[in-house]
Amino acid sequence: MSGPNDNAAARLAAVKARIAQAAAVAGRDGDAIALVAISKTHPAQAIALLIAAGQRLFGENRVQEAAAKWPALRERCSGLALHLVGQLQTNKAGDAVALFDAIHSLDRVRLVAALARAMDRTGRRPPCFVQVNIGAEPHKGGCAIAELPALLVEARAAAIPLAGLMCVPPEGIEPAPFFALLDKLAGDHGLVGRSMGMSGDFETAVQLGATHVRIGSALFGARA
Ligand SMILES: *Cc1c(COP(=O)(O)O)cnc(C)c1O
Repeated sequence: MSGPNDNAAARLAAVKARIAQAAAVAGRDGDAIALVAISKTHPAQAIALLIAAGQRLFGENRVQEAAAKWPALRERCSGLALHLVGQLQTNKAGDAVALFDAIHSLDRVRLVAALARAMDRTGRRPPCFVQVNIGAEPHKGGCAIAELPALLVEARAAAIPLAGLMCVPPEGIEPAPFFALLDKLAGDHGLVGRSMGMSGDFETAVQLGATHVRIGSALFGARA
C-alpha cells in the first residue's frame, strides 16, 4: 500500500541520497550537512508527514505564518528545530528570537540592533547567518558584499552569535560561481556556516561547501 506518508518518506530519502552523493563527489560527509525542510505555505498536515518520516529541522520564511503553525506541531513532537529563512522586519525581531532556533536573514545594521535588544531581553540567542546579496541584485534581500565586513563588526560587537553566511543566487543563471563566492567570503571572515542551495541547485551547493541546504519543493511538492 502507498499513501501520502510513503510519499513524504520517499521524497525525504531521495533528497538525502542526493545530498550524500554530491557530498561524496566532493569528499565530504553528507551526514554533516544540515537539511532544512522549507515548509512555507504548506499546512501542518503535510509537515506532520515529514516529521513522521523522521525530519526534525524545518524552515519558514514568515514570522506570522510560523507562529500560527509551529506551536501545535512542537507540542506533538519534541526535538523539532525551526529556522527563519525569509526577510525579517525590525518590528518582528522579538517574535523571531522567541520562535526560531536560527535566523538565516540578518542583512542590515538596524536588524543587528533589534535582534541584540530582543536577545538581551529574552536571554535566547539563536545563531544568525548574515544574508549576502551575492548577485548584487536590486530589490533582493541581503547585504551588499562591500558592506559585509562592517555588518559583521556590528554583529560581533552586539554579541550576536554568528553561524555563517547565507545566499540565494540570481535566478536563471549558473549558480556555482555565486556559491563559490559565498564559500570564499565565509572563509575570509572565519565563519563556518554556509547556508546555500535550494531544490533546483542543492547538489552544486553541497559540492561547493554548503553546510545547510534549504529545500522546499523537492520535499513537499510544488507550492500553490
Ligand atoms: C522558499 C525558499 C527556499 C526553498 O525553495 P525550494 O526551491 O522550494 O527548495 C529556500 N530558501 C529560501 C530563502 C526560500 O525562501
